[in-house]
Amino acid sequence: MTAWAETCQVFTGSQPLEMKNKMHLVLFGPPGAGKGTQSQFLTEKYGLKHLSTGDLLRAEIKAKTPLGLQAQELMSAGELVPDEVVVGMIRNLLENNPDAKGFIFDGFPRTRAQAEALDEAMKETGSEIKLMLALDVPEEELVTRLLGRGETSGRPDDMSEEVVRKRIREYEKKTAPLKDFYHAQGKLRKIHGLGSIVDITSRLTDAIDG
Ligand code: ADP
Repeated sequence: MTAWAETCQVFTGSQPLEMKNKMHLVLFGPPGAGKGTQSQFLTEKYGLKHLSTGDLLRAEIKAKTPLGLQAQELMSAGELVPDEVVVGMIRNLLENNPDAKGFIFDGFPRTRAQAEALDEAMKETGSEIKLMLALDVPEEELVTRLLGRGETSGRPDDMSEEVVRKRIREYEKKTAPLKDFYHAQGKLRKIHGLGSIVDITSRLTDAIDG
């Protein structure tokens, strides 16, 4: 934030409303679309903070917290965890990182309720999502990539074709319709998700810089 912007923070009551100089992106796409891989490049290039609900949930599982134990069963069956759980996690992180230049949301939002909660949380800080970058990859390629990753990742949800296809079905049913939600706000950018990692990164950065 520039010194000018800092001194020009607008206050309503006790709540600071920051000027809209942050850049928040939603990196979107089905399981295996490459969101995690591309997030690494984008966080570096734009100095953003990466928020992956999948990574956060796996950390809870590893730490054997009550939340992790609850999420574990659903995740290994390829189902979504409840909205309240992920919305609570995201809200905590937003509150604990007030100085971040912006966030890349990876794997969140995944339902209409989550997208609405995110808009609401953004509004409370006087900010908004700039773009939804939606990676487009055909189903058979997703299955190949996920089962390939499962051979080394140790992720139980990557090891069975049945669970992998279940995750893709969940995505199509509950998550893909969010493209319409962001399209209606003029924020959807569809990105071809096949090709080399660097080619896909440059498609993403073209969309962000454009
Ligand atoms: P992928 O997108 O490759 O499936 P993630 O690491 O993003 O991998 O998610 C793994 C699992 O974690 C999902 O299948 C789901 O069970 C759970 N999960 C992650 N993010 C969310 C979310 N926003 N809402 C509900 N469940 C989630």
